Amino acid sequence: MLMQEERELVVEYGKKMSADRLSTGTSGNISIYNAEKGLMAISPSGMDYFSTKPEDVVITDLDANIVDGSRKPSSEWALHTTFYKHKPHARAVVHTHSMYCTTFAVLGQPIRAVHYVIGDAGVDTIPCAPYRLFGTVELAEAAMEVCGESDAVLLGNHGLVVCGKDIKSAYSLACNMEYIAELQYRAMCIGTPNVLTDEQMAQVMEKFKSYGQPNSGKKGY
Ligand code: 13P
Ligand code: ZN
Repeated sequence: MLMQEERELVVEYGKKMSADRLSTGTSGNISIYNAEKGLMAISPSGMDYFSTKPEDVVITDLDANIVDGSRKPSSEWALHTTFYKHKPHARAVVHTHSMYCTTFAVLGQPIRAVHYVIGDAGVDTIPCAPYRLFGTVELAEAAMEVCGESDAVLLGNHGLVVCGKDIKSAYSLACNMEYIAELQYRAMCIGTPNVLTDEQMAQVMEKFKSYGQPNSGKKGY
């Protein structure tokens, strides 16, 4: 089976996304990009994550031509391919409707540096793209327009999309974004959160470079 490893990972992380409550029902989607082959493995549209099998995962090129698989690919294929086209380091994309990220996306408000872990996205503010219909090229374009250097973007009245150097990093970034969005929400319920300054965030970015075990390639949590 073409890209068996990537297909298995898409299935594994789909189940995780559901179990960790980052997605309800069949919302959200996951892809992994194999740059050597120029192909991505993307979750099938509208299928329950716990009944999805590796053969249900669809292999397409970055122009959405199906290369292998009998299922219909995620309706958000354009959202995924736009990250691979515009962000050279991106090898995996995770899109969720997680509760707290989506709460800010409904408000059209960014996630701010209320906790230093936001540095995991490579920036100090997670921008929010204006609302566009799901499953459209317009949604993908709106996300890329506000994205800048960020590996994470809120989608107005919709959810979150992140990319990473592999599926593990992308998934962990989606979890961290949800964590910070929840913190920001909770802090705003009882007061006005302190937001870290540019200087404080610059120090975090520097410190992240040497975080974790030597040569682990880890840049953040
Ligand atoms: P798919 O089931 O087509 O991947 O769509 C889910 C979704 O979240 C659309 O934005
Ligand atoms: Zn969605």
